Amino acid sequence: MNSSNHYDAIVIGAGPAGLTAGIYLSRARLKTLIVNEGTVGGQMILTHEIVNYPGVENINGYQLANIMKKQAKTFGCDIKSGESITNLVMDSEVKSITLSNGITYTSDIVILSPGGRSRTLGLPNENNFKGKGISYCATCDGDFFTGKEIVVVGGGNSALEEAVSLTKYATKVTIVHQFDHFQAFEHAVEEAKSNPKINFFMESELTSFNGGESIESVDIKNLKTGEIKNYKTDGVFIFIGYIPNTEFIKDKVELNKWGEIVVKPDMSTNIEGVYAAGDSTAKRFRQITTAVSDGTIAALAASNYLHEIKAKQKNLIEA
Ligand SMILES: Cc1cc2nc3c(=O)[nH]c(=O)nc-3n(C[C@H](O)[C@H](O)[C@H](O)COP(=O)(O)OP(=O)(O)OC[C@H]3O[C@@H](n4cnc5c(N)ncnc54)[C@H](O)[C@@H]3O)c2cc1C
Repeated sequence: MNSSNHYDAIVIGAGPAGLTAGIYLSRARLKTLIVNEGTVGGQMILTHEIVNYPGVENINGYQLANIMKKQAKTFGCDIKSGESITNLVMDSEVKSITLSNGITYTSDIVILSPGGRSRTLGLPNENNFKGKGISYCATCDGDFFTGKEIVVVGGGNSALEEAVSLTKYATKVTIVHQFDHFQAFEHAVEEAKSNPKINFFMESELTSFNGGESIESVDIKNLKTGEIKNYKTDGVFIFIGYIPNTEFIKDKVELNKWGEIVVKPDMSTNIEGVYAAGDSTAKRFRQITTAVSDGTIAALAASNYLHEIKAKQKNLIEA
């Protein structure tokens, strides 16, 4: 296929996994397109300060995303963002993707890297208070709570790290967590516990958001005693995990019961020519480094696959 809309590889999602795949594929001189629904960078752009990406001591997530984007483009990778996918065919030799602008692109391989999004608590008026006291992003909204008191919900790495970063703004941060222990790295737990601005409600959960124009208080239930306490707060940050962005491929590729893409060690899926990488895949640890690693493996395995099928096609023509 020589059409200008035909690519060797189409990558879906421009977070660290997709951008890394784009860097490797383009550098291998494969004509590559990354399509991305939101802002390029994925969850990285929600991250205030990244201090665990090797080789970079301290960087803002938005900056790291822009470096990766620039790197991919330098190798010739095309990136189309801000368009959603309206049609996707992956179970044929030539894959095809139609975007909301009506344009259809085809490719020999697809790498799925749509990442995930924040899980909500699902309480009745949670939606009403979004942006009016409820936030899922410390980087985006932390500054609004300068000099105020806030509640952080969650007990994983994101919750503890973001709670610490929020103490730069808030005078008091109260962490509310369901269990009697945290599901986070020991250093993250220690850092939160040693911060004088942070206090904890363990074995507790939020049962209600209260207020008028914005949040004024929350109800916190002690899960051991059943007691519900009304607790005054100016804001609530929720970091309770993620949902993979795989609804659009529900019947197109094998997913597990949590909606995560099932991959083999070379990041291939159950569909020939379709690979997956990053937070949307079934795995235990979700970090920028692991997304970058997945993106590398998927791109290298996909490149090998492409060379093999091209060699086979050439042999058939010559035979
Ligand atoms: C608040 C917060 C703080 C974090 N802090 C750190 C940290 O300090 N260090 C660290 O290593 N990790 C951190 N992480 C985790 C890290 O950001 C993720 O593990 C990583 O970004 C996952 O990369 P990804 O490429 O798989 O997916 P994502 O980053 O989620 O990117 C996926 C991209 O795909 C796009 N997309 C989704 N669906 C579609 C679709 N249908 N069509 C087209 N595009 C689509 C999305 O818009 C997005 O741009 C943090 C995460 C959060 C939320």
